[in-house]
Amino acid sequence: MVAKDYLLEMLVEYTARKATRMNASTRKLEAIAGVQMARVAVEVGDRIAESLVHESRGLPRCSLCGHGPFTYRGLYLHLLRKHYDEIKQLLEEEFEYTIRMLKFVAP
Ligand SMILES: [Zn+2]
Repeated sequence: MVAKDYLLEMLVEYTARKATRMNASTRKLEAIAGVQMARVAVEVGDRIAESLVHESRGLPRCSLCGHGPFTYRGLYLHLLRKHYDEIKQLLEEEFEYTIRMLKFVAP
């Protein structure tokens, strides 16, 4: 799949935005991957997004390295600057796993 790397890069962006409560549009993902595949990508992104951030005394911290507290905007930048490749890797593994499971349960 030629567009897979591009899809994953867009998905890193989406996931970082989602994790930090920013407006996360799915439109780019749909344009790249089509509505059905984008739905899977968004599901994966939402799942990973939840694992990237936790709150301590009401302030967000990075779950990958424990740094913080940040503002949500600061954490968004931190995630992209420090953990871009790591998040991309997490998304790729989760995405491929999810696709395999979907094929497995398909009639
Ligand atoms: Zn971090």
